[in-house]
Amino acid sequence: MTFFSFKKFILETLFPIHCISCNKYGDWLCQDCLNKISLKKHQVCPICEQKQTPNGIVCFDCKSKYTIDGLLVASFYRRNKKKTILAELIHYYKYRFINELSNPLGEILVKAFLHSDLILPDLIIPIPLHPRRLRWRNFNQSKLLAEYLSKKITPNFEITVTEDIIIRKKYTHPQAKIKDRRRRINNLQGIFAINSNTKVAELLENKTILLVDDIATTGSTLFECAKTLKQYKVKEVYAIVLARQ
Ligand SMILES: [Zn+2]
Ligand SMILES: [Zn+2]
Repeated sequence: MTFFSFKKFILETLFPIHCISCNKYGDWLCQDCLNKISLKKHQVCPICEQKQTPNGIVCFDCKSKYTIDGLLVASFYRRNKKKTILAELIHYYKYRFINELSNPLGEILVKAFLHSDLILPDLIIPIPLHPRRLRWRNFNQSKLLAEYLSKKITPNFEITVTEDIIIRKKYTHPQAKIKDRRRRINNLQGIFAINSNTKVAELLENKTILLVDDIATTGSTLFECAKTLKQYKVKEVYAIVLARQ
């Protein structure tokens, strides 16, 4: 037993883990409660959020305005004006630092992806965190989800997950704290850059890319990221998130 697994063992003995939803002993989210999280049946264009489109691809009218090709939203943040259990799980994951929740949350992304007709991506890119935020949380929540997804959406091989291509240049305040939509969008302009590694162009050329993030608010983080990638000759950029706030 390593020091860390020993520490974990002690912590779990002192503070036994219970399901966040039903309080059953054993896991942060039990299998029954995980199965109850329903997937979105209909997807809409991520830009206008009006038109229903297959797999959340960008509708014809919005196509010329934005660079992203689509956004698949797995489930719900709110239902009937109440926060869902998924919203609560995301909160535990990100702000109580329960990184083990990346497995059940990743499972929700896997189910949503497999339910869709999106083609398998060539590359999966988690939305990067600013180093300052990474130090604070100690893990990149999107990276853990991306890794889970890459292991589970194909039976025989893992799709490459790469964190090295895009870097986050600017530290920004959490989107959830900025109420005004326009300020949120301005807040994000030019926050990403491509890592000036010479192989990047080669790595991205003609590739279908899937961006992974836990949650989308205005979507601007994902749109900015797609815009940055499309400076290269990528084929298509899609994104997948657990929910849209
Ligand atoms: Zn439960
Ligand atoms: Zn649209």
